[in-house]
Amino acid sequence: MSGSDTLDDYREKRDFSRTPEPPAEKSTGIVRPVFVIQKHDATTLHYDFRLEADGVLKSWAVPKGPSVDPKEKRLALPTEDHPLDYADFEGVIPAGSYGAGTVLVWDRGTYRNLTEKEGQEVGVAEAVRRGHVSVWLEGKKVRGGYALTRFRTGKGEAWLLVKMDDAEADPGKNPVATEPRSVVSGRTLEDIEAGRDE
Ligand code: MN
Repeated sequence: MSGSDTLDDYREKRDFSRTPEPPAEKSTGIVRPVFVIQKHDATTLHYDFRLEADGVLKSWAVPKGPSVDPKEKRLALPTEDHPLDYADFEGVIPAGSYGAGTVLVWDRGTYRNLTEKEGQEVGVAEAVRRGHVSVWLEGKKVRGGYALTRFRTGKGEAWLLVKMDDAEADPGKNPVATEPRSVVSGRTLEDIEAGRDE
């Protein structure tokens, strides 16, 4: 991949001779379109919510992680686009590198775009630019409709991630607290940090 694209920020922040994270190449995944939620024990623990769009992963850091209760609004702070291959990444980003800390694939699956304007579907990349995207997630821990809505623009750009009120909503559940393990390896953050196998 040469020239400038929306992965420039991702590339510039990382030294790929030091970090085990994947290099920045646009990629064709197998199962499409993909979403992933990565639990990231960095300076502060957060959940990185990523949606495939236009060959990259549009990304937000969600400090409290997703809720399955439609009454809970979760702050989501946009971060740089990530390469599609990042949806497979689980491991330890070394100290001194950007985002240093442990990453666990907390949930992953495919999604459907639900975003419409006046009865017409709006593509996900365009929806993100416009500041509102609705998706139906088919994950193992989170399923059903979720809406992401920008409420502040500019330097402090901020969004809210909210569960839509549908059959998959369940205020009695809190998978962020009760289901801490990786959906790909079964490991906890501690297992990954200690280099223990699945
Ligand atoms: Mn992160």
